[in-house]
Amino acid sequence: MLKLEKTVKHARILNPLKNFEEGTLTFEYRTDPLTGRNTTVIGGMLNYISKFLTSDKELLNLLIEKTRVNCPFCPENVKTKTPMFPKDFLKEGRIFVGNAVVIPNLLGHAERSVLVVLSKEHYLKLEEFTPEILFNGFKGATTYLKRLKEVEPSINFPAFIFNYLPPAGSSIVHPHMQVLARDRPFYLVRLLLEKSKTYFESHRASYWAELVSEERKSKRYLFEINNVEWLVPFAPLRGLNEVQAVVRGKSNILELEDKEWQGIAHGMTKILNFYQKEGYTSFNAILLSGPVDEHLDYFDVNLRIMSRPGIQASSFTDAWALPYLLWDGEAVEEPERFAERLKAYISGN
Ligand SMILES: [Zn+2]
Repeated sequence: MLKLEKTVKHARILNPLKNFEEGTLTFEYRTDPLTGRNTTVIGGMLNYISKFLTSDKELLNLLIEKTRVNCPFCPENVKTKTPMFPKDFLKEGRIFVGNAVVIPNLLGHAERSVLVVLSKEHYLKLEEFTPEILFNGFKGATTYLKRLKEVEPSINFPAFIFNYLPPAGSSIVHPHMQVLARDRPFYLVRLLLEKSKTYFESHRASYWAELVSEERKSKRYLFEINNVEWLVPFAPLRGLNEVQAVVRGKSNILELEDKEWQGIAHGMTKILNFYQKEGYTSFNAILLSGPVDEHLDYFDVNLRIMSRPGIQASSFTDAWALPYLLWDGEAVEEPERFAERLKAYISGN
């Protein structure tokens, strides 16, 4: 049975903003039920940093217009300014699915990383990412991964990442998704695989199946679309409006059927619409897969999506030393409170 453990701690201060009245600060130490990693939920932190999370519209427009000039991913340039696959890998050089274009990286993050240009538009508001845009991107990515499997069967570990806009770590504004692929798992994937295996052996049940069935009864559960379950994690990785999705019973990306890709695409657009409504412009998402050469009963493909700070002259970052260097989690709001806001929005739309 899944354990959701937290400890609540307090600090007392004499608050200068309230005429030095005594105030209490609350810290919740929450243990990730699979990895054991701590995430500290800091009540009131969202409000404290909220001024850094919205974007300066003029700066954002300036960024969009400046980067539009010579953008390699815009439709007039994508066939002349982006790399092509070698002919022996792919005769046509690039993969096209709807408006999505799969191209090799000019400089990638792993030996078989590629990039999917998602749209013809140079800039999309978060509410303009449609299920069709994301679905075509996923189809392009899996077409690439299937070809890769034929040519290099040792490349077993793919992961998809979205970095949208500079606060999320993207050097190119034009909407795109990275498809990372290499012969060894990324650290987080390895950790999740190892912990999931241990959990399966000691509980005789899949952690992921138990997570979904337990969370279905909690305030953090959001919705299910086509076998894809959406929830707010009990102990978020990063904690800025973070949502998790689990594709039930599918342990690697190549096992997913179209309806499940639709489930991911539709779920993501719901979350992105909510981010837009809350004033955000930038986000990250990661889609994690087990090895593509075998089915694992103890692991499910899963996703995390989170908003990032706004475009501002101050260059505020939420890559704080605590999560970035100390490897501890920090959440700026109680996950249950965030889930409540998100659900209220979704049920009204
Ligand atoms: Zn562009």
